[in-house]
Amino acid sequence: MHNIAIDGPAGAGKSTIAKIAAKKLGFIYVDTGAMYRAMALYFIRNNISGGDEEAVTKACSEIDVSIEYQNRKQVVILNGENVNAFIRTEQVSMMTSTISKYAAVRNKLLDIQRSLAKTKDVIMDGRDIGTCVLPDAKTKIYLTASIAERARRRYKEQTERGIDCDIKQIEQDIALRDKQDMNREIAPLRQAEDAVLIDSSDLTINEAVDAVINIYKKGATAANERG
Ligand code: C5P
Repeated sequence: MHNIAIDGPAGAGKSTIAKIAAKKLGFIYVDTGAMYRAMALYFIRNNISGGDEEAVTKACSEIDVSIEYQNRKQVVILNGENVNAFIRTEQVSMMTSTISKYAAVRNKLLDIQRSLAKTKDVIMDGRDIGTCVLPDAKTKIYLTASIAERARRRYKEQTERGIDCDIKQIEQDIALRDKQDMNREIAPLRQAEDAVLIDSSDLTINEAVDAVINIYKKGATAANERG
């Protein structure tokens, strides 16, 4: 397998870029954030406080998260329901960052993510893919961008979805999420030692996609030369 791991902070363009690169390379795209978001949605819907680790841990046994592909699009299934339409709100984003620090939540999703990458070439994006989920991925990328640029993109994306939002609030939420994701004990967000850094602040989407594909190609050539 030649898996591609893409990690980076919120709003760096990981999913947009990974989706296009996956299509061009004929890989399966796996958005791990969506799986964490589905779990967060369950806790919100069931009035389970994100700060209550015991309650969250207990509820994990009631949750079944899986992913399916419909017309090549990833669909997240939470206890039998397609929840794609409900997991992109700022409320879900914040809850996700809160509950993703718990061992019970991470362990639940780790096996699912690893097994997806076992039999197929995947481009998987998240926070801990290169460091923890797929430490042997042949291509690892750390994709980032300035916080102002990330907030601007998220604002545009939400507005286009018809969601009312405030750019300053988004910037604050992103900064808080970065802080939480980078400072948690289990699988914190960080660049893997063997990951290549791409700063997408001044890149167009196509330029960032090309950068990913070039890094992949170099890795594939090196692997062939090694035999
Ligand atoms: O990538 P996305 O913004 O959808 O991720 C939402 C949240 O899920 C992140 O802020 C992070 O807390 C969590 N996450 C994680 N590990 C991953 C993917 C996402 O902890 N591999």
